[in-house]
Amino acid sequence: MDALQLIGPFKQLLTMEALPLKGALTDSQLWIIENAGILVSDGKVMATGKYVTLKKEHPSAECQELTGDHVCLPGFIDAHTHICFGGSRANDYALRNSGKTYLEIAKAGGGIWDTVTQTRKADKGTLIKKTAKLANRHLKTGVTTLEVKSGYGLSLDEELKILEAIQEANKEVPSDLIPTCLAAHMFPKDYDGTKTSYLQELAQKLLPKLKAENLTNRIDAFIEESAFSPEEIAPYFKTAKNLGFNITVHADQFSTGGSKVAVEYGAISADHLEASTDTEIELLAKSNTIATALPGASLGLGCNFTPARKLLDAGATLAIASDHNPGSAPMGDLLTQAAILGAFEKLTNAEVLAGITVRAAAALGLTDRGKLAKGYLADFSLFHTNNYQEILYNQGNLKPCMVWKNGSLVYNKHKA
Ligand SMILES: [Zn+2]
Repeated sequence: MDALQLIGPFKQLLTMEALPLKGALTDSQLWIIENAGILVSDGKVMATGKYVTLKKEHPSAECQELTGDHVCLPGFIDAHTHICFGGSRANDYALRNSGKTYLEIAKAGGGIWDTVTQTRKADKGTLIKKTAKLANRHLKTGVTTLEVKSGYGLSLDEELKILEAIQEANKEVPSDLIPTCLAAHMFPKDYDGTKTSYLQELAQKLLPKLKAENLTNRIDAFIEESAFSPEEIAPYFKTAKNLGFNITVHADQFSTGGSKVAVEYGAISADHLEASTDTEIELLAKSNTIATALPGASLGLGCNFTPARKLLDAGATLAIASDHNPGSAPMGDLLTQAAILGAFEKLTNAEVLAGITVRAAAALGLTDRGKLAKGYLADFSLFHTNNYQEILYNQGNLKPCMVWKNGSLVYNKHKA
């Protein structure tokens, strides 16, 4: 057993314990310990409490005593990213902001297909390096767990290459990368067949391989007029479910239909939801499917945010993720985006912070993180302030100064 470590004191420690999974939250529901410490052993939290009390009760603990004002939060969890890709879409972004339409950009060689081409050209080593680099950038913003989707391969071999690259990148970074297969991102235009036959091939050949090689237990699909219809995706989800995969859906981004399929197939999360109406909100609120808002995509495309306030008031579980991708969400800064979503949608501190910690953990089906309590992973960040409200008030500009992952200090701004 590792030596017992006591870290602190922190002006405030937000444990994110005892919050309901669903519905609206007030800041008075936050469990805040003042002058707190965390007792860590074997990468896990042994106890949280007053620093002086923990010190007295555990005299053998090795103390990492901090000076100055710090607020401690659980490591952030980004439940939706596409950070394994080749190339850049800076030109697309410039064209879009100069008023070009989606079709004009696609005709000029841009769009998702451009990233597919660049990603296919990149070898696995290049993808591993790039993914690790981006994951480490997220780590410095306090993100200690990061979902990463494939979906820029769009053929059996290329999708496998990407998922293997994510698996390798995971070994090279302190954070945990959670892989998801998004082979149903769009219909590959070089595929010799129909959308239905493409999805059939994925179901029959790719899904069993993912299981056999233990590459992922999560399947995602883009349900949209430009990608796949609910009817087209249904048999694919049926097979995925029978094989024991968790399902997640890109739903209701521009048109509705996706969240209904998500709920029907018991998806763990429905992500995007910018186009969701009261009907979809009601449906999600009554289900166990977590609604994941992606403010980075709204910012990147210059369009409306997910109706986060309405979803929470209806009783849904709201997670917030960055959707970091080269096309519509190039920023990749979860804290900034979550803070901005909070300002536009009128979300409490508790709702925003739960959306990137404990509720985001639920969106990934992870029960060992997202809170700081006995037995949970010792993943946490410190912010140089004496009041947790300063964190969202600074709209992402107040970054963590220290980050711990599995009980190890993995980022220290003071020494960077
Ligand atoms: Zn996405």
